[in-house]
Amino acid sequence: MPESIEPTSNGATLLGATEIRALAASLNATPTKKLGQNFVIDPNTVRRIVTQAHVSETDVVVEIGPGLGSLTLALLPNVAKVLAVEIDPVLANALPSTVASHAPSLKENLTVINADAMRINELPMDPTHLVANLPYNVSVPVVLHFLETFPSLKEILVMVQAEVADRMAAGPGSKIYGVPSVKMAWYGDVTKAGSVGRNVFWPAPNVDSGLVRLVRKDHQFDPQLRELTFTIVDAAFGQRRKTLRTALGSVLGSPQIVESILRDAGIDPGLRGEQLSLQDFVAIAIQAKKVT
Ligand code: SAM
Repeated sequence: MPESIEPTSNGATLLGATEIRALAASLNATPTKKLGQNFVIDPNTVRRIVTQAHVSETDVVVEIGPGLGSLTLALLPNVAKVLAVEIDPVLANALPSTVASHAPSLKENLTVINADAMRINELPMDPTHLVANLPYNVSVPVVLHFLETFPSLKEILVMVQAEVADRMAAGPGSKIYGVPSVKMAWYGDVTKAGSVGRNVFWPAPNVDSGLVRLVRKDHQFDPQLRELTFTIVDAAFGQRRKTLRTALGSVLGSPQIVESILRDAGIDPGLRGEQLSLQDFVAIAIQAKKVT
């Protein structure tokens, strides 16, 4: 059996290195750095992602950046529907025929949307899961945008740069804890779900990758409170060496007001943002809302 085609047990054949390169050549497509185009050439990696994604046959998965279809083909046999959002028109146009030839019985379960994921505000169906090998330049904003826009998303599993995976899953007190850690924690419980080497990609990136899982929390916070909390988080980490007393002046007001909001929230104004949990930031936002 050629390395490029490995049948799955359920109706899709996965793409390997030879086939990915041939597919790109046939489309005259050269992977670009600008769009973070590093395609997975290893069937075991896409199988692993699908296993880690906790999907089932009734789930509707949104995949951001399907590229040449490596992960899409592994997802299709395991879910009800894949909504694939791809910015590159050449790759978006080619995907239906790749699926028709590699997973003919599943082609109706794919919808391709040729668009910038950052600008997607609606989808033809409510997605239950987001599963993606993300373009690295927009990985954090795109995940936050989808969590905000699609409350139906109950779980996400994404492959990102290893360093970004660490940041997303970091807790208070660590050096890498920052804006992505707190904002992701707003939406759910974040954990790392494995590491991935460079050689499973073509072209191979300069950095290792990691898998990150978020399981959405069922909470009642309103969008206004989220916005205010995120504004406070941005300000606190914008000047992360400064104490909250100083760093929050630009968003909360005079030193006296900042001081009293922090005291009412039960937070020491002499702390720095990196020492605060999500709950601490929410407590500050709740107090700030009362005085604004
Ligand atoms: N899923 C494929 C795989 O695993 O082989 C490709 C992953 S590649 C890292 C990222 C993909 O995202 C590319 O196909 C790229 O064209 C696409 N992309 C980049 N920026 C995007 C955006 N803003 N919206 C949607 N797709 C984007």
